[in-house]
Amino acid sequence: MAKIFCVANQKGGVGKTTTTVNLAAGLARIGQRVLMIDLDPQGNATMGSGIDKRTMPLSVYDVLLESASIREAAILADKCGYHVLGANRDLAGAEVELVEVERREKRLKQALADVDGDYDFVLIDCPPSLSMLTLNGLCAAHGVIVPMQCEYFALEGLTDLVNTIKQVHANLNPDLQIIGLLRVMFDPRITLQQQVSDQLKGHFGDKVFNTVIPRNVRLAEAPSYGLPGVVFDASARGSQAFLAFAQEMVDRTRGR
Ligand code: ADP
Ligand code: MG
Repeated sequence: MAKIFCVANQKGGVGKTTTTVNLAAGLARIGQRVLMIDLDPQGNATMGSGIDKRTMPLSVYDVLLESASIREAAILADKCGYHVLGANRDLAGAEVELVEVERREKRLKQALADVDGDYDFVLIDCPPSLSMLTLNGLCAAHGVIVPMQCEYFALEGLTDLVNTIKQVHANLNPDLQIIGLLRVMFDPRITLQQQVSDQLKGHFGDKVFNTVIPRNVRLAEAPSYGLPGVVFDASARGSQAFLAFAQEMVDRTRGR
């Protein structure tokens, strides 16, 4: 059975997409069968995996509207070693087109049932909002990975996300839980970041992942080559951290 995780945080630019593609590539490197689903109409995770969002024949939009199955629409990102169910601007229309549909928040979950045996991990890159698209991700998932920067307002922003996850857990998806908080773009020289990191551990305990992702320019450069950092330059500090994170995810979710 595939373990399905959303990478979510309603703030933009916090490192969701970077986390999704690098974790996908890291898991693939240690022999896991991975499907990466892009649920953001911006399509950054698609392009960042080397799939051209403008020319791909089918996308997650077709899956949500039930005009294609995941098996038909997923594309192998051959340099990265995982499959991609891509997104592009079409997806922005899905929200409106699904308004009249019953159980619209369960569309992705239903589609994933078909490929449950094909993958060890399914990772879903969510858009920066708590929209119908994110809700589809949360309904389909067993858990949520929350990337966050250790900044002053970080904890405050977390409250909305934690409440949404609680509501989805109570009303729509009893499996859903927070797997962990991932500290990203971390700079240990900045005292405030150390303080927020300590607060985070005090508040969330072992829900904070051991692995810390440093700020590293190679991770930021990689998308322009259509590659996750882990594939672009595996020796970079940021890539090494994501490889360690992939192993931590395997260890944490063993037996699930
Ligand atoms: P989101 O998907 O949450 O909007 P992204 O993953 O696109 O966030 O990251 C926002 C920006 O920060 C991107 O330009 C990305 O390349 C850069 N970035 C993300 N993580 C790191 C990191 N660890 N070090 C340096 N730059 C990073
Ligand atoms: Mg993104």
